[in-house]
Amino acid sequence: MLLKYRRILLKLSGEAMGSSGQTIDFDAVGNAAEQIAEVARLGVEVGVVVGGGNIWRGRSGGKMDRNRADHMGMLATAINALAMQDALEQRGVPCAVLSAVPMQAFCEPYTAREANRLLAQKTVVIFACGTGCPFFSTDTTAALRAAETGADVLLLAKNVDAVYSADPNAVPGATRYSHVSYDTVIEKDLKATDLTAITLCREQNIPILVFGMRDGENIKKAVSGESVGTLIDRG
Ligand code: UDP
Repeated sequence: MLLKYRRILLKLSGEAMGSSGQTIDFDAVGNAAEQIAEVARLGVEVGVVVGGGNIWRGRSGGKMDRNRADHMGMLATAINALAMQDALEQRGVPCAVLSAVPMQAFCEPYTAREANRLLAQKTVVIFACGTGCPFFSTDTTAALRAAETGADVLLLAKNVDAVYSADPNAVPGATRYSHVSYDTVIEKDLKATDLTAITLCREQNIPILVFGMRDGENIKKAVSGESVGTLIDRG
């Protein structure tokens, strides 16, 4: 198979790992791991940033100190990272978890150098604990790690299948974009990702592909250049 992308950064939101009532949904994690395993076997170098929304988001902390609430969110991403590592190892995929917050008993500390070394030897790298700083999201982490590892594309796997002009569930006639520029996403405030993430991608000229996780073939389709979801670039 001809590959469009040699190195990818895949962002899996917390919802792709579990949902309310079932913190870790092993079928969903297994499905994502299966797709990652498939592209890794094709020779694609895969970095994965996992979210934490299935467990905790800092902004849900109510009256909590926001720094502490975000620390809890980062810990949530570490739980998801270990679940994904387990699912990948069960499928015989070499992988490592690198954490922005050192927790040596569970995983290795993140450095860009180590991430790039592992990726070059075809080890899937799972990035835990976001950026290590509060007030950021895992989408922004994904944009940052994509820049640090020289990824060819940022794949944002969501629970909607593309970027729309409005929420397609609430507005049935919403426009579905297959290709849109960073500037349009920012100007129209399209809910593709957050502003920090999209600005960093625009600055570094990293294309973003937004697609749904429900189609079990989407990651493979994306790396082989088939059109899926919405491509965001300079337009
Ligand atoms: N978080 C953070 N700094 C980061 C990344 C994440 O503080 O660099 C925290 C923040 O509280 C966030 C939570 O981790 O709400 C989980 O990440 P996110 O909300 O991005 O997860 P997703 O929505 O993708 O499931």
